[in-house]
Amino acid sequence: VGKPFNQAAPIIHTFNNNGYECFFVGGSVRDYQLKRPIGDIDLATNADPYTVQRLFDRTVPVGIDHGTILVLLGDESYEVTTYRTEGEYKDHRHPEQVFFVENIEEDLSRRDFTINAMAMGLDGKIIDPFNGLQDLKLKRIQTVRYAQDRFSEDALRMLRAIRFSSQLNFSIDDEVITAIKENRTLLEAISVERITVELTKMFGGMGVGKALDYLNETSLYQQLPIFGMNENVFSLVHEQLSEPIADAAVLVAYFHYMDPSISISTWVKAYKLSNAVKRKATIIYEAFDKHQEQGLTKGLLYQLTYEHIQPWNDFVRFVAGKSYVLEELYSMYDQLPIQQKSDLAINGTDLIRLFPERKQGKWISDYLRELEHLVLCGELQNQKDTLEGQVKAWNQTGQN
Ligand code: ATP
Ligand code: MG
Repeated sequence: VGKPFNQAAPIIHTFNNNGYECFFVGGSVRDYQLKRPIGDIDLATNADPYTVQRLFDRTVPVGIDHGTILVLLGDESYEVTTYRTEGEYKDHRHPEQVFFVENIEEDLSRRDFTINAMAMGLDGKIIDPFNGLQDLKLKRIQTVRYAQDRFSEDALRMLRAIRFSSQLNFSIDDEVITAIKENRTLLEAISVERITVELTKMFGGMGVGKALDYLNETSLYQQLPIFGMNENVFSLVHEQLSEPIADAAVLVAYFHYMDPSISISTWVKAYKLSNAVKRKATIIYEAFDKHQEQGLTKGLLYQLTYEHIQPWNDFVRFVAGKSYVLEELYSMYDQLPIQQKSDLAINGTDLIRLFPERKQGKWISDYLRELEHLVLCGELQNQKDTLEGQVKAWNQTGQN
C-alpha cells in the first residue's frame, strides 16, 4: 500500500498488538483502487470508542456517540470508528441510534454504495462483500442492498449517488435511478448544509454534465433550493454547463449570471453559504461586469487583488468560452504601481497631520481614493513628496 496508508500503519499495529482488528475503509480504499488522489483516511475497528481513547495518546472524541474518535498521529489525523450498524431511521435522515457490531462485514453493510463499502488491510488485501471492485471496473454506482430501502432510510444518499457519478465519471445503475425517481421528495427532510456539501462536490466533478442529466432525468433537481422553484435557471445550467466548477464562489457568480434576477445573496442564503463566499462571488461578478464594459484594465486587476485573479479568469472562461493566460494576468498585476491601498506612499494619518485645521471626515478617504486612482493609472508617481504636493494643491483650490 502507498505512502498515506503506511503513515497510518502505527495505528493499525497498535490495535493488532492489543488483540483488535483495524482496517482502512470507505473513500480512501475506493480512491486507492482507482489510483485517484487519496483524501481523508478513515479506519474501522472492533475496539469500542473508550478503548480507542485509551490506546492512543492524542485523541479527540469528535463523534463518540456514534463511535468515532479522531486519532492524532504526527501532523496527521484519522477518524477511527467502531464497527457499527444503524438502528431505525426516522424522518429519512440520521438513524435514532447506532449499534456496535462484531465484524467488519456488518459495518460495511450500512454504507451507501458498493464502491464505498470495501475495507483494506495493511497488506493491501481487500474485504469486498458487495462486489465494489467489480463496480469500480464497470464504472457503476450501485447501492449496498436495495436502493429503495437505502434511500428511504437516508434521503441524502440520492444526491450522493449523483455526486459520486460526477466525481468519478461513473454511471448510475438503472435500479438506483428508478429508486431516486420514486423517493425524490424525501430529500425535503435533509438539511440544506448537507445538501450543499454534496452539490458543491457534484459541480466540481469531471462528470458534471452527466450528473446534471441525472438530476434532470430523476427530477431530483426539483427538491433543490432555488432550482426547484425556478425551472428556467436549472435548465440553463443543465444545457450550458459542461466543465466542472469547484469553487463555491465562482459557482454562485455563475448561477447569478445565468439568471440575473436571482441575486448572489439569494443563492448564498438559500444554500447557507458563508459571507466569505458571498464577498468573493460579488467581487468576481463585479469585475466581470466591468470587464464587459472596459476590457482588461489596471483598475480591474487592482480591484480583483491577487487572490481573485484566478477564480475571475475561470469565471470568464465558463461564461465566455475563453480566458486570459493566467501568467500574463499575474505579471500585469505585479507591474502595477501599487497593489493595495496600503502601498500608497501616504495614508490617512499623514493627511490628518498635513491639515491639522481640518475636521476629520469623508475628505480623507476621498483624497486617498483619488490618489490611488492617479497612481494606478500612472499619472502620479507613488512618492510621498509628490502625493503631498497633490493633496496640498487640492486643499488650496478647495477641492473636497
Ligand atoms: P470523499 O472523498 O468525498 O470524502 P468519501 O467516500 O470519503 O468521499 P464521505 O462522505 O467522507 O465520503 O463518507 C465516508 C464513508 O462513509 C463513505 O465512503 C461511506 O462508506 C460512508 N458514508 C458516508 N455517508 C453515508 C451515508 N449517508 N450513508 C451510508 N454511508 C455513508
Ligand atoms: Mg471522506
